[in-house]
Amino acid sequence: MAHIGVLALQGDYEKHARSLERAGAQVSEVRTVAELNAVDGLVIPGGESTTMLKLLDRESLFEPLREFGATKPIFGTCAGAILLATKVENPEQVSLGLVDIGVRRNAYGRQLDSRVVSIDADGFGALEAVFIRAPIIRTVGPGVTVLARYNDDPVLVEQGLHLVATFHPELSADDRVHAYFVKKVTG
Ligand code: GLN
Repeated sequence: MAHIGVLALQGDYEKHARSLERAGAQVSEVRTVAELNAVDGLVIPGGESTTMLKLLDRESLFEPLREFGATKPIFGTCAGAILLATKVENPEQVSLGLVDIGVRRNAYGRQLDSRVVSIDADGFGALEAVFIRAPIIRTVGPGVTVLARYNDDPVLVEQGLHLVATFHPELSADDRVHAYFVKKVTG
């Protein structure tokens, strides 16, 4: 059984844990380097990326996360997508640089802070996508596969081991995206 961690410093990590369990994984909350090194894959949840960066720094988890991502799968959603990107704007901030995408934070604007839409994803068909102060993926490198778009912008992408969603699959009653990540972890 895949043992998957959920980064539990801030944000909606509990819902991810439930979705992963329903998708057949054993799940642990990760707050320390030792807990990180005990899992085979990791979910970085939505929340507030600037706050998460501060907490990663405080727990000395930033470099260990980067090293973890060199050999093990990470699934980043929303703020987690921002942390995985190679380039972040609005404003610029540091990131792990594990997925070759450039993102713009809070890019859908104030009046459209959150919304639920239907997207069509490669290999999934129709998927509900819940966006909450989401970033927009502005650029994708040559090694990145776009699995779904919304308004022409990529919203579900993967590169090698890693998966990125700018929406919140843990908020939909559908565990297929989590099941897809569990499969990436089990190989
Ligand atoms: N707006 C948040 C950020 O920029 C992300 C929002 C989310 O994770 N739901 O970090």
